[in-house]
Amino acid sequence: MLPRHDILNWLGEEDPQRLDALWARADAVRRESIGDEVHLRGLVELSNHCVRACGYCGLRKANRRLARYRMADEEILDAARRAAALGYGTVVMQSGEDPGITADGLAGVIRRIKAETGLAVTLSLGERSMEELALWRDAGADRYLLRFETSNRALYDRIHPPVNGARSDRFALLAALRGLGYEIGSGVMVGIPGQTFDDLADDVVAFHELDLDMIGVGPFIAHPDTPLGRAATAANVDGQIPNTVDMALKVIALARLVCPHSNIPSTTALATLDPERGRELGLLRGANVVMPNLTPVKYRALYEIYPGKACVGETAETCTRCLRGRIESIGRRIAAGPGPSRRFVERATTGVMS
Ligand code: SAH
Repeated sequence: MLPRHDILNWLGEEDPQRLDALWARADAVRRESIGDEVHLRGLVELSNHCVRACGYCGLRKANRRLARYRMADEEILDAARRAAALGYGTVVMQSGEDPGITADGLAGVIRRIKAETGLAVTLSLGERSMEELALWRDAGADRYLLRFETSNRALYDRIHPPVNGARSDRFALLAALRGLGYEIGSGVMVGIPGQTFDDLADDVVAFHELDLDMIGVGPFIAHPDTPLGRAATAANVDGQIPNTVDMALKVIALARLVCPHSNIPSTTALATLDPERGRELGLLRGANVVMPNLTPVKYRALYEIYPGKACVGETAETCTRCLRGRIESIGRRIAAGPGPSRRFVERATTGVMS
């Protein structure tokens, strides 16, 4: 693996010419280990109800300014059918941490999606109980996304306080998810107030140590109705990581170098900070996945984890057309099929569940 001090040096590198070497290396590793295909994952934002108090996220329970919604089963099924009709291989169901999404209710929806469409199903529903995660896996869910957000424990505890006194341990949950047979995805925000270069180097090392199937990385974007959004610059520290597109791109490129076979999305947060080129730059510097939004338009603006989210007004069809154009403009092509992570397939065939 790339030594930690090299990771740290790259994170601090600002010379555009020297950075070109990092971009080229990440792109070459992506091409050799994954190829030119880009997977589309249709994102359905099931609910913006949330019991948590995360300092960064606009869905936090205490945000009274947000009207709350939860999609009906039939609406979710319709979105999944649309994903299949548009040729996507995967549907990603994401939400706030919402007990109103019940274990049995969602298991039924997962079973119907699998039976009707055969799509791969990815869940990103926050920290749920082992029983629920096992039930959803039995119902056919394939993958689970749970970012650890930062590997600095003290910073994590500050921005992601416990609910009902229960200590949040996303590393333990990721291990449990792997044990249940899920493909596991995690990742971080880049430029969280209080996050240092050392912290971010540790995050990249953790991607490798966790042997992640999927790695999601995006810049932190301040939301004015959150404690961290309001405090943003006041909470900055010495050696503060800037929440810029370039810094997020460095982390994507480094993620590709330390996890050559993982699936890495070019995230919406990147496209939000750089609507013109964000998506393409992610794909050119290590990423191989994009996640077009399939949430019904009437709910889109309400899933406001951060403000100004890219593509909020677009229908699934316009979003697909736009992304297809962007992907083809850089000489890449859209993949067919569910697109599991190569690491997952390797581990499954060698029988090693490391
Ligand atoms: N409730 C789920 C899904 C949260 S939204 C969960 O907690 O896992 C998915 C991701 O959006 C989060 O993991 C976080 O990394 C990112 N996110 C949340 N607020 C953000 C902000 N203000 N800026 C940038 N990314 C943010």
